[in-house]
Amino acid sequence: MRRTGGCRCGAVRYTLEAEPLATRLCWCRDCQYWSCGNAAVNIVVPRAAVACEGTLRHWDSRADSGRHMRRSFCGECGTQVFSESLENLEAMVIRVGTLDDPAGVRPTAVIWTASAPPWARIDPALQAFPGQPT
Ligand SMILES: [Zn+2]
Ligand SMILES: [Zn+2]
Repeated sequence: MRRTGGCRCGAVRYTLEAEPLATRLCWCRDCQYWSCGNAAVNIVVPRAAVACEGTLRHWDSRADSGRHMRRSFCGECGTQVFSESLENLEAMVIRVGTLDDPAGVRPTAVIWTASAPPWARIDPALQAFPGQPT
């Protein structure tokens, strides 16, 4: 099915033409910054299935996993829309909060639980990984 989304202000819009490869909650320390303290909800998708319009700004860093991550955000409103590992250009990550219909996906796993704060509620129904799943 076709999904659409974009940043908060609408300057960046995208379409996704493939089903997610994975839908996960992520408690990595990086995601805590961009999700304002909670776990982020991310879908991993084939990069070739994403078409994006609008101007994204980028910020590159080294993730807890050791990978080189590029995070892309709207230069106008600051919404982080995509992230990608520069070691894996086949796939990319979309922040579920940017989907027009976030209810259309459901997390099946929670990752980086080792970095979650003690008050975090880890859903026991989800497959849990202390770090990055291999
Ligand atoms: Zn924006
Ligand atoms: Zn994360």
